[in-house]
Amino acid sequence: MDAENARTRILIVDDEQEVRSVLCSALCDKYLCTESGSAEDALSLLQVETFDLVISDINLGGMSGFEMIPHVLASAPDTVVVMISGQDMIESAIEALRLGVFDYIVKPFDLLHVEAAIERAITHHSLLQTKRRHENHLEDMVKQSTAELNHQALHDALTDLPNRVLFEDRLRQALAHSERRKNVAMIFLSLDRFKKVDDTLGHQLGNCLLRDAAKRLTSTLHKDATIARFEGDEFALLLTYAADSEIEAVIHTVHEISEAFKVPFVLDDHEVFVTTSIGISLYPDDGTDAATLLKNAGAALYRAKEKGGNNYQFYTADMNVKALKRLRLEGKLRRALERSEFEVHYQPQLDVRSGKVVGMEALVRWRHPEQGLISPIEFIPLAEDTGLIVSLGEWVLYTACAQSKKWQEEGFGQLSLAVNLSARQFHQSDLPSVIARILRETGLDPHFLELELTESSIMVNTEVTIQALSDIKSIGVRVALDDFGTGYSSLGYLKRLPIDVLKIDSSFVRDVTSNPDDAALVLAIITLAHNLRLLVTAEGVETVEQLELLAQLGCDMWQGYLFSKPLPAPAFREFLTDRQHANFESTFAGFN
Ligand code: C2E
Ligand code: MG
Ligand code: MG
Repeated sequence: MDAENARTRILIVDDEQEVRSVLCSALCDKYLCTESGSAEDALSLLQVETFDLVISDINLGGMSGFEMIPHVLASAPDTVVVMISGQDMIESAIEALRLGVFDYIVKPFDLLHVEAAIERAITHHSLLQTKRRHENHLEDMVKQSTAELNHQALHDALTDLPNRVLFEDRLRQALAHSERRKNVAMIFLSLDRFKKVDDTLGHQLGNCLLRDAAKRLTSTLHKDATIARFEGDEFALLLTYAADSEIEAVIHTVHEISEAFKVPFVLDDHEVFVTTSIGISLYPDDGTDAATLLKNAGAALYRAKEKGGNNYQFYTADMNVKALKRLRLEGKLRRALERSEFEVHYQPQLDVRSGKVVGMEALVRWRHPEQGLISPIEFIPLAEDTGLIVSLGEWVLYTACAQSKKWQEEGFGQLSLAVNLSARQFHQSDLPSVIARILRETGLDPHFLELELTESSIMVNTEVTIQALSDIKSIGVRVALDDFGTGYSSLGYLKRLPIDVLKIDSSFVRDVTSNPDDAALVLAIITLAHNLRLLVTAEGVETVEQLELLAQLGCDMWQGYLFSKPLPAPAFREFLTDRQHANFESTFAGFN
């Protein structure tokens, strides 16, 4: 308390020297006392020094104590004022308290009273200060959380990059301030196959990938570029360039980005290669306002993705028309599923040696009310992009299994059924239970079912893929690798995969009789497959010559227009009814 008091500074204001001395000598042991003979003096002192306490007389010759108080409190609101006066009138005391005075002492005073009053005043002062500190602290906290909230409102929580709101604001500012010789480039960037990585390795590693990608972008681009994360794996970049070298500069930047992404991302102990799709719109050529530039860069990105990713596209005028068409198609696709406009066709698969039909491949078609039959090539990629493939694929699997079981019950023999699975379906973690459920519900024995996967859908991550394939196989179904030869599977990789059948892509079959290279390749694939104890099916066989050569090369099974196109269920049934037709012995007799 004494140490505290020693720091307490008291200003004593009285025009009588004697009164000042009495007070001073009574208080100076405990407090730091300063004297002042007039209100004017006191106020100028208060300008340069702070006091915790002011003890003042009312009548000071010049300016009165009452007149002085508002000035004291205005310049230092925490100062506690005690008045001493000869006037013992109650009105003066009330007036003093109304002005903000803490206490009122009447002359002639008893020093003990004065000391007690001073102590009360000091306690009051320290309470005031504590309150002030709390208030300041509170204010700081409010300021800080307001700043944090502002930051959060304008930044992406995952990467801490600016978000769409801030980006659009910066874009508008850039356009408003863009000088004549400066052009603005609006770039959308999306990570190819991000969804696949996210599905396969899980959201946590997916998020790591997004953060790492954000860092890579930030370190690649120059400092005055704005990089924002929109939604999912979509980033937006805002760059300014000198008007006359803009295109070259943008291309240079894009190349730098794709160089930066050539290094694999390391997520846990997985190495993941990620490429980018980029769409670019330029101010002022492709739009003079933010909304148009954003829309057009979006259309360009769409085009880049449509081209298979790993490329960049500058906006061109016809892009929005195409994007709109695709958007409409997407809506129609959704409705088509609800209205059951899809149907499954079946293409026979034959044994090369016996010429007998041994199975069929289920292939989906869209029977559009106006446009007629639409090929899966036109809608499967879109269904894959939008995720619609999951329910569509499930529907195909169910329909084909149920149909297959029905034909078996009708006595059409034990035909195997091949169904295509898309990458997206393959990466659904509940796929094995979906397959098991469908087999249970339709009553089809798992041994009749063969699931076809393409190379690209099993390329992402070896360990995860092998596990997923094993899970599927443990149900008792077989797995075929479709369109083999078009992807990049190494032969060593193939050896590790638990698969049963290789389907040679029709592009090799097409030229097998005319191109010796293709014949050699087909022979190599068949030899390798047999070494790995895999069966080989040739797709797209259209001529007898092709079939004969494939037979010579040791191919096990085939399908193609030479025997039959994919047929609607009733036609396929009719076809099976006449068992005479259901083999290829007539044309192919005597070959084996
Ligand atoms: P895919 O699985 O490789 O199917 C073989 C494609 O070759 C089919 O095309 C079939 O009609 C066609 N084809 C069969 N024989 C011949 C022939 O002799 N000559 C020629 N030129 N073509 C022949 P389709 O039915 O248009 O299907 C195209 C692709 O769409 C399929 O290729 C498959 O990847 C995908 N697809 C079809 N149905 C489904 C499905 O239910 N789910 C998924 N995920 N994909 C499907
Ligand atoms: Mg297939
Ligand atoms: Mg195929």
